[in-house]
Amino acid sequence: MIEKYFCHDDFCRIIPPYMIDKLLESKDSKIRKMALLSFKIDNFIRSVRFIHKKERDLLMEELKIKPVKIVKKKIRHIYDSQNSQHLPGILVRKEGDKLSNDKEVDEAYEYLGDTYDFYNTIFKRNSIDNKGMRLDASVHYGDHYNNAFWNGWQMVFGDGDGKIFNRFTLDLDVVGHELTHGVTQHECALIYRFQSGALNESFSDIFGSMIKQFKLNQTVDQADWLIGANLLIGEKYAIRSLKSPGTAYVNHPQLGTDPQPSTMDKYKDLEIYQDNGGVHVNCGIPNHAFYVAAMELGGYAWEKVGLIWYKLLQKLDSNANFERAAKLSIEIAEEMGEQEREAVIKGWKEVMVI
Ligand SMILES: [Zn+2]
Repeated sequence: MIEKYFCHDDFCRIIPPYMIDKLLESKDSKIRKMALLSFKIDNFIRSVRFIHKKERDLLMEELKIKPVKIVKKKIRHIYDSQNSQHLPGILVRKEGDKLSNDKEVDEAYEYLGDTYDFYNTIFKRNSIDNKGMRLDASVHYGDHYNNAFWNGWQMVFGDGDGKIFNRFTLDLDVVGHELTHGVTQHECALIYRFQSGALNESFSDIFGSMIKQFKLNQTVDQADWLIGANLLIGEKYAIRSLKSPGTAYVNHPQLGTDPQPSTMDKYKDLEIYQDNGGVHVNCGIPNHAFYVAAMELGGYAWEKVGLIWYKLLQKLDSNANFERAAKLSIEIAEEMGEQEREAVIKGWKEVMVI
């Protein structure tokens, strides 16, 4: 069971290692100290994937991680880790309970529900695994932990350092991004490295953005196409931009400039130890292909191009590359109509994948 539900190859964090690396080099000792704490937690959780299954089970037991129950409708459980690294922690709000007086708890509850509703309303999907998996999240994880992640069973949110990052429950697109890693895990299980990993990241960004657009009832022209616009402190900053990769943050005093390319000629050929071969950095390329196709078709993103990408997620092989995703999405679009086919071709051409 554990093997099946564990996130493929890595645990899926929202903040990429290249952003954490910058904070580790900060001149501000407080920022550096908090970044180091987050870095240690990341490495500890990451180590889980390298060990033997038996050892992993023991570690899961030590971390108090339990696979969540399967149910038949929307059921949410929100836990408080109380700034420890215990998962899931204490149950503080379950389905149907009234608001707690903790904003992290209530945001997590609301956004888990919004993500469930989006997948259920638009794609008739019953939760992450399409079998009604209960949605669990733990908040207040670690000490000023600068990340949020999906560990294969549940969402985990840090409080952030309060200097660079706000609380990690703040943006619906971030929650949607993380839960979509769970959806991908149960569909094509894209391997979390190189181009298949960048596609995995891209699906999370695309669906995360669409979940926010759906909640706000925004058309493609009205959407900001940003991930983590509130999470990264400062009006001009976000984690990633689907509209314009490489511009989510520019000349940030601690983080520098967003390194994402939007076209294949600028593709970053990285080693496996660098962001798993560039999964967070190169995902800007398929992200932008989707954006271009969505703008071309207009209206609500989830009505046409979103549906194409959802079918794509169900049809891809786990080691697919960008070219394979382009070819398959064009075939799917073709079944929908000429306009859809042309829009998808335009998207992949603009980012130079075809
Ligand atoms: Zn991710």
